[in-house]
Amino acid sequence: MKVYFRELKLSTTEKLQLVDITRQVEEIVKESGVVNGVCLIFAPHATAAIIMNERESGLIQDILTKVKELTEPERSWKHNLIDDNAHAHIGSVLLGSDKALPIRNGKLVRGVWQNIFLLELDGPRMERTVVVEVLGE
Ligand code: ZN
Repeated sequence: MKVYFRELKLSTTEKLQLVDITRQVEEIVKESGVVNGVCLIFAPHATAAIIMNERESGLIQDILTKVKELTEPERSWKHNLIDDNAHAHIGSVLLGSDKALPIRNGKLVRGVWQNIFLLELDGPRMERTVVVEVLGE
């Protein structure tokens, strides 16, 4: 079995932001040479998440609006006494830090309207990392 590992480094410019990483992940899968297997996409951060959905500007705004509603940044969370970002931790917990996608015939298996995004919950950040690990044959 082949194991191919890469890290994407990216910066974010907004407090709450979706960054489309689909193209980069697909390039890594191609580079890996894996024909059949699994691609793990993982954000090693407590205040970010990995999500998948359609890249449509209205929907992106809708998702960010809903994330804000769910995580309640204005609420007086206990963690805010030491670090003013409880909402970002909660968003990461609710949405998750990873996705695993099948690879078949050298390509990621995903729906036409399923792009892969890093969800920044506590930006802007100079450097965010996304780990992409490709396993297979
Ligand atoms: Zn914190």
